[in-house]
Amino acid sequence: METLLRQGLEALGLPTEGAGRLVRYGELLLEKNKVMNLTAITEPKDVAALHFLDSAALLTLADFKGKRVADVGTGAGFPGLPLKIVEPSIQLTLLDSLNKRIDFLKEVCADLDLEGVECVHGRAEEFAAGHRESFDIVTSRAVANLQMLSELCLPLVKEGGWFLAMKAVDSGAELDSAKNAIATLGGRVEQWRDYAIPGTEVRHRLIFIKKIAPTPKKYPRMFAKIKKNPL
Ligand code: SAM
Repeated sequence: METLLRQGLEALGLPTEGAGRLVRYGELLLEKNKVMNLTAITEPKDVAALHFLDSAALLTLADFKGKRVADVGTGAGFPGLPLKIVEPSIQLTLLDSLNKRIDFLKEVCADLDLEGVECVHGRAEEFAAGHRESFDIVTSRAVANLQMLSELCLPLVKEGGWFLAMKAVDSGAELDSAKNAIATLGGRVEQWRDYAIPGTEVRHRLIFIKKIAPTPKKYPRMFAKIKKNPL
């Protein structure tokens, strides 16, 4: 896995110093995955590409240096933890509603001796009560459709900051359906960038949503309401 990761990081033009830590993270992930549902991807080479390099690729698309970043619905730590491992200056909050996954992430951070990572058990729509408009960047992958996800993520972003949504390259219709929600929540779609995961045929899309105005206080609503009546 280490060679693949080094080659992939090099292909992305990223530093390779984090490769050793990523390998260890991969070992911990696959070990824990035997007793707990963390990932459907179980081949080390696929973990390297589809989890680690897919996550790290964001560093080639946006400036994360020294930024306060929250990863919403991080699961087993994607994309947040590989971002932090490759770009250590990030101040990271990993947020997930499943406590077992947060416990796993705490173990990984202790094992890798990572500083500046906060692992929080909670729902994004509740976490927003104490953390509105407090992150430079909020990331999210594979959590909800963009219309609902925007209500979970945009309230957390500072004015002038970014919500970066990791999506499929064919997410055009999903983006169209989310435009009203994004505007209502104080966001504006600035661009999207498609990228390839090195060593694979896989292409993904990063959607850049800029926070241009404060989110009205009545958002986010409780999840049942978001789901029943999306913006
Ligand atoms: N982002 C990771 C990835 O790409 O591998 C995990 C994706 S997993 C399919 C979705 C995760 O989002 C789950 O771990 C789930 O517990 C979490 N989640 C769903 N809704 C959430 C919410 N409202 N607040 C926080 N976490 C949430």
